[in-house]
Amino acid sequence: MTDDIKKPHYQPVDAMVYPRFSGIRTFMRLPHVTDLTGVDFAVVGVPFDTGGTFRVGARFGPEGIRNQSVLLRPYNPTLDVSIFDICSGVDYGDVPVTPGYLPESHQQITEAASVVLASGATPIFLGGDHSVSLPLLRAVAAKYGPVALIHFDSHNDLWHSYFGGKDTHGTPFRRAYEEGLLDTSRSSQIGLRGSLYDAGDLQVTLDCGFQMITGPELHEIGVKETIQRVKERVGNGPAYLTFDIDFVDPAYAPGTGTPEVGGFTSAQCQQLLRGLVGVNFVAFDIVEVMPMYDTQGGVTCLLAANLVHEFMSLIALQRRT
Ligand code: MN
Ligand code: MN
Repeated sequence: MTDDIKKPHYQPVDAMVYPRFSGIRTFMRLPHVTDLTGVDFAVVGVPFDTGGTFRVGARFGPEGIRNQSVLLRPYNPTLDVSIFDICSGVDYGDVPVTPGYLPESHQQITEAASVVLASGATPIFLGGDHSVSLPLLRAVAAKYGPVALIHFDSHNDLWHSYFGGKDTHGTPFRRAYEEGLLDTSRSSQIGLRGSLYDAGDLQVTLDCGFQMITGPELHEIGVKETIQRVKERVGNGPAYLTFDIDFVDPAYAPGTGTPEVGGFTSAQCQQLLRGLVGVNFVAFDIVEVMPMYDTQGGVTCLLAANLVHEFMSLIALQRRT
């Protein structure tokens, strides 16, 4: 909160005046605002999926997540935080991209993200395929230096190349590691699972210096122990949270590009995120949401919207102190 009375305080429209199904779709029916002066957080769409190697369609992720976000309410009872009592939050809209042109689009994404970061607002990016995390991390590291990565995913996305291509949704963190954008000594990859080509596929996580908590290991040790390990690892420095929706079991999140069974429930995802209170987050993304495969009543987009609500709650708790 601030004493500057001239500064607008942005929050969702009143649901008792404007029914939830009405109006133009923004995230949580926040105002669409691009002047981020005095704004605490901004939801930013990154509708790009040219980095996909199997199914594509994550370009419609921001739209799908916004559509399912209209039922969200401002109070998070589990974390006991009323987000907009503390934060002014907006929907910034989508960054410009050039469909089919990955290098050009990545450049555009970095430039747009840099503008958001320069404002002091904490960005929450809605992908897009996972390739977008690389240009986003370039912008983040330009501001903060190498950051810790807290990475929820079935896959480590550390391939050297894919079909000979060095920029795909399977390679972003290899490039980020090589470019020195990450402090892997404070970073974790969580939820890795599924069939692989060989044992070396997981070894690369350790070789790059990440903490690794595989999917089966998370099932074994549980949510609490996982949170403790990740928080011990991340310390107090700046952290970037990236959430690939395929971390979630496809029973709960079918609307994605490379689903892997044996994953985690919606409730476990909420518990994991809530447990990260106190981490010094500087940006968030949620990626690989594909509404056209989300045929069970939009549950994937609904979950993604609710996980963004947890991100917003974490930001509010950070900014309360
Ligand atoms: Mn994945
Ligand atoms: Mn991924």
